Amino acid sequence: MPGEFELIARYFHRDLSAAPGVLLGPGDDCALLAPSDGMQLAVSVDTSVAGVHFPLDAPASAIGHRALAVNLSDLAAMGATPRWALLALTLPDVDEDWLHGFAAGFHALADRHGIALVGGDVTRGPLSITITVHGELPLVLNAASTIDRVSQPILRRDGASEDDLVVITGQPGLAHAGLKAWQSGQRDVLDPCLAAYLRPEPRIDAGMALRELASAALDVSDGVMGDLSHICRASQLSAAIELHQLPLAPELIAALGEQGAQQAVLNGGDDYELLLTLPEANLDAARAVLRASHLSLTVIGRMHTTQEEVHRVSLLKAGVEQIATGQSWQHFPANTTAEVSS
Ligand code: ADP
Ligand code: MG
Repeated sequence: MPGEFELIARYFHRDLSAAPGVLLGPGDDCALLAPSDGMQLAVSVDTSVAGVHFPLDAPASAIGHRALAVNLSDLAAMGATPRWALLALTLPDVDEDWLHGFAAGFHALADRHGIALVGGDVTRGPLSITITVHGELPLVLNAASTIDRVSQPILRRDGASEDDLVVITGQPGLAHAGLKAWQSGQRDVLDPCLAAYLRPEPRIDAGMALRELASAALDVSDGVMGDLSHICRASQLSAAIELHQLPLAPELIAALGEQGAQQAVLNGGDDYELLLTLPEANLDAARAVLRASHLSLTVIGRMHTTQEEVHRVSLLKAGVEQIATGQSWQHFPANTTAEVSS
């Protein structure tokens, strides 16, 4: 059986001579990285635990894809260009077939988005994958050459304004239906719902293209209601979502029925679509820049001010407010009653 160093070399070390900014890749105590001139770093880390974030029996290549995809999705949500990744892998044992599949899924997605694996760690224990990603964003300096914190072209959560539209990319909800399908024993990985769950597509190009057009953004991992509440809280505004405007894919309705499909979009998880706010005047331009990547952008609501102190997400059906049901997924829920907290 190959030793740890041989495993790392075999599955994770690749030629990085053409990777931007990599002065030294894996093999030494640290990687050495040089950000491009005039750019700032966007950094994020996420852990995927077997049995919590993905099913233990999911295909190894899907686990490799998905673990990186959820991290790239955080870069997409800031509008950042992916650059470098670190991979800390905890494995129960050395299963080379599994490692081969995992590495193939990881590298295929990494290559598509130009992110270089510059280091990591391998340990023994219950299967768990921690990935740190580094991306780049333009750094705007003011006349005195100090950082201008306000006018950075970055998709933060706190940038929404009153009357901004709430929009979402692609087909949310499919991944939730895919998880249910997997749990009920379906294994056709080409099924659109299963594919959306097992191989989510991080919206990197969309994030970069919308950097100058959107006012706020995040990636939807826990359903629209819960995730939009984060933008509301950060931007000190409320939002109203119109049920009839939710984009419901025919495959989603076929899998869950219309109400189930709505619930999946509102309170399901694992979509990794981008949820953004933007001024109405930018909508056509935003749709036009996404056309190149064949990605739809659907208006689902609007931001507004409220008299109250709390900033919340309300759900309208033909303009009439609905009482929210269900709850978006949290690992450690703060309480069990409030669907969207202030
Ligand atoms: P250390 O003894 O400092 O913990 P390791 O033995 O964990 O170093 O790793 C040796 C080298 O291999 C380091 O440069 C590390 O970044 C790299 N490495 C370890 N695991 C991985 C991995 N899964 N993917 C890529 N590089 C890795
Ligand atoms: Mg180590």
